[in-house]
Amino acid sequence: MASEGRVSLITGGSRGIGKAIALQFSSQGLSVAVNYISNKSAADEVVKIIEGGGGSAVTVQGDVTKPNDVERIFAETSESLGPVEILVNNAGIISDSLLMRMSDNDWDSVIDLDLRSIFLCTREAIRTMVRSRWGRVINIGSVVGLRGNSGQANYAAAKAGMVGFTQSIAKEVGSRNITVNCVAPGYVETDIVEDLPKDLKQAIMDRVPIGRFGYPEEIAGMVGFLASDAASYVTGQAIAVDGGLVIS
Ligand code: NDP
Repeated sequence: MASEGRVSLITGGSRGIGKAIALQFSSQGLSVAVNYISNKSAADEVVKIIEGGGGSAVTVQGDVTKPNDVERIFAETSESLGPVEILVNNAGIISDSLLMRMSDNDWDSVIDLDLRSIFLCTREAIRTMVRSRWGRVINIGSVVGLRGNSGQANYAAAKAGMVGFTQSIAKEVGSRNITVNCVAPGYVETDIVEDLPKDLKQAIMDRVPIGRFGYPEEIAGMVGFLASDAASYVTGQAIAVDGGLVIS
């Protein structure tokens, strides 16, 4: 199986899309480091499911906005599974508000986790990938980063920044057999969207050609493809997995 036995690290792998990616990777024969910040029991559960299926996984606690934590996350992963060969920058938050009411904290917290953390984690990962001349970096963006969204200027700026980052690093490391891509989900059934008002959810669904929100597994399928050898000639791309939302 393509990429079998390689070591992956998924930031925010304890819940939602990250959890689905962890399970997808394990089904492809990858070993998985499941990063989380506070929900240990959820991360433990992901590892339990993977081990129950005969796979290999560990949990790695750490805040990916903090340089010292990032260094430790990679060191712990390396000690237990080996150097990270496939990095998924998935951890993310929203803090929505119209710009006139957006606080400094709304802005800073979203830029910190949704943009700065991918700089910290990718820089750490690239060092060993360059040495071994193989690697995959997959950034989880959003269609909001491709089209913008009222009330989400902070999130759109972070996710659009991620696209420029993806393209730049793809150019820097392509010759070392390292691909860097971005998967941009539309609205997906996870804790992040659960709290949206019902009428807003319906209005969004009305704009999605496929007529429903996505499932985490539908994002994980694309991430699994990008991690595989079948995607060896795909780099620097932002691929929407959104039921057609960006074309509507
Ligand atoms: P969830 O809110 O379901 O999960 C967030 C994950 O990130 C959890 O595992 C959480 O850990 C972890 N996390 C949060 N803060 C940190 C931190 N500082 N350091 C390390 N880990 C952290 O998120 P989703 O699955 O909904 O979203 C995943 C990604 O997909 C995000 O980047 C999001 O922007 C993107 N996305 C999601 C969409 C959606 O509709 N859901 C749409 C488009 C993009 P813990 O369990 O410990 O709290």
